[in-house]
Amino acid sequence: MISVSEALDTLFELVAPGAIETVPLQAAHGRVLAQDVAAQRNQPPFDASAMDGYAVKATEVEKDALFQVVGESAAGHGWAGDVKPGQAVRIFTGAPVPEGADFIVIQENVDRRGDLITITETPGPSHYIRPAGGDFKIGETITAPRRLSPADVALLASMNVASVPVTQKPVVALISTGDELVMPGEAPGPDQIIASNTFGLAAMLQSAGADTRILPIARDTELSLRQAFKLAGSADLIVTIGGASVGDHDLVADVAGEAGMEQAFYKIAMRPGKPLMAGRLGGVPMIGLPGNPVSAMVCGAVFLVPVVRKMLGFEASPAPRQKMSLAKPLGSNGPREHYMRAIKTSEGVAAFDAQDSSLLGVLAQSDTLLIRPPHDPARETGDMVEIIHLDQS
Ligand code: AMP
Ligand code: MG
Repeated sequence: MISVSEALDTLFELVAPGAIETVPLQAAHGRVLAQDVAAQRNQPPFDASAMDGYAVKATEVEKDALFQVVGESAAGHGWAGDVKPGQAVRIFTGAPVPEGADFIVIQENVDRRGDLITITETPGPSHYIRPAGGDFKIGETITAPRRLSPADVALLASMNVASVPVTQKPVVALISTGDELVMPGEAPGPDQIIASNTFGLAAMLQSAGADTRILPIARDTELSLRQAFKLAGSADLIVTIGGASVGDHDLVADVAGEAGMEQAFYKIAMRPGKPLMAGRLGGVPMIGLPGNPVSAMVCGAVFLVPVVRKMLGFEASPAPRQKMSLAKPLGSNGPREHYMRAIKTSEGVAAFDAQDSSLLGVLAQSDTLLIRPPHDPARETGDMVEIIHLDQS
């Protein structure tokens, strides 16, 4: 058996970052920036008023001071003159602060009669001016790789960047295998269950940034599997689910081998999810996951998401781990790294009692995988453990 990190390294070797494409800003959310992008301008491009009020000289600001209003600066329409001693310019939020002025007296602190204003309250320390370039300066960059958030999209727009270079979404073909499976919504026979893994994994990989294709379920026959592989040929990554063990009906390795897969079959020292297959099928990377629903999803989080992230241009690295204290004691662990379904509480992280790898209900209640190293001794409440968050992609 090999370790999880050895297996992951082998998988990373199968894949490379995708090509770069340019997308308009409206399609950029959630995409991964492939090259650094630089601001095309300063923001704000001029000293701008942060409030509605009057632009004056700071040295003249005091209670009862009197000024003559000589002009107006509105957003999009500045005032071209020079503010002289004793003068004020009516100004609005976002408008350029005119030459000669360096203080905005907010309108609440002013009494206006005709063209004359008097300061009625001693103004506070803020001059209410947003300095030119105070948000960002021309040439400042957003660095790649980076998954673009809504705030990033707003920032790019503000930088006058209308389209961005992103890494192409890897297309992942997902193949369920098994005579017992039908698609959700179909009427299952008495011995049948609903294929869940492809749907859960598709959701997981989409939120990691991939495009996914759920292919028709392959039956436990060589012909059906061959057809499925043919359909998957144009994908960037093929993922099969089930049929990867050593049972009589586990044909994935045989059929993939016949189809020319340079193949490696691993027994990984992990729970759940011991068997894993990996290789290249007609040049396309292929990963075979175990069929048990929780095993498939745990392998998705531990193996597929990091692989997809590499394809998106991120550094090859395992799912990030954090430390948390235990809210409940744990018994000793066996020889395999155990990814326990668990939930965060105010007292720490608590593993569910039911850890069978078929229990999707428990997985759906979990927000955390609690990781037990091989041969970890029994642990007490308050001991520190490593976790992977399931509630973020
Ligand atoms: P296998 O690896 O094919 O022996 O499958 C192991 C277990 O997982 C069996 O109970 C299968 O019925 C179940 N299983 C396999 N594929 C799926 C799937 N796509 N959705 C839900 N259960 C599955
Ligand atoms: Mg099967």
